[in-house]
Amino acid sequence: MGDVSTQNGTRPRRVGHLRFALLGSGSRGNGLLVECGPTAILVDCGFTLKETERRLARLGREAGELSAILVTHEHGDHADGIGPLARKYGLPVWLTTGTHAALGSAQTSRLPHCRLFGDHEDFAVDTIAVHPYTVPHDAREPCQFVFSDGTHRLGLLTDAGHITPHIETQLSGCDALILECNHDSDMLAEGPYSESLKQRVGGPLGHLNNDASATLLASLDTGRLQHIVAAHLSEKNNTPWLVRSALGAVLGGESRRVEIASQEGGLAWRELV
Ligand SMILES: [Zn+2]
Ligand SMILES: [Zn+2]
Repeated sequence: MGDVSTQNGTRPRRVGHLRFALLGSGSRGNGLLVECGPTAILVDCGFTLKETERRLARLGREAGELSAILVTHEHGDHADGIGPLARKYGLPVWLTTGTHAALGSAQTSRLPHCRLFGDHEDFAVDTIAVHPYTVPHDAREPCQFVFSDGTHRLGLLTDAGHITPHIETQLSGCDALILECNHDSDMLAEGPYSESLKQRVGGPLGHLNNDASATLLASLDTGRLQHIVAAHLSEKNNTPWLVRSALGAVLGGESRRVEIASQEGGLAWRELV
């Protein structure tokens, strides 16, 4: 596996280290760019086609440069924009069998190239090694990823209701981490959501709160950690200040090390060196 052809095989090859940027992060749309050399992966796309193109341009990229799209799960904030983008640019889409089934034929039958993978099955997209791992979330077969260029590892974790020993194993020793800090438990409890939505978001198959992410971070080997990015923040039930203080507390009080991926602005390019 892994012989994904690119649309622009003749374009000049960029060289360099593993780098990443976010188009945006949150319940109104997600998208993560991971690059190494000439390879460019988009993880999830929860934006309209026009908005995706605008956000890519903001990061100095065009959709035609993408090597592949990877999908973590079928929820709209991660998958709604995938069909239009993949069809317009002829991009291969990698997803689990369960995500493929959950999206249904209406969304998948017209995709130009579908690549199915199991959530314990490593694969590669050109120069980037991809390690999917399973997470507890209320979707059919959700997964998250660790990316590697053979030297550095970038771990991604959003949309997980609780931390499992499996998650800890996958994310330990990474050079960069993107961690969900969805909500502050007190703000969620006292906030505007309905009781049922509070229970879903705060439940074991919902989203990670700040304390759970901080506890995870404290359990990991962070000796190589260059970048720690908080992601998928709720706009109603969290604040960047609360996120920074929760994660900063387990980084020796260095809350300024915690970077925030926002819904509108995403996160500018970061490179692992
Ligand atoms: Zn989500
Ligand atoms: Zn989700």
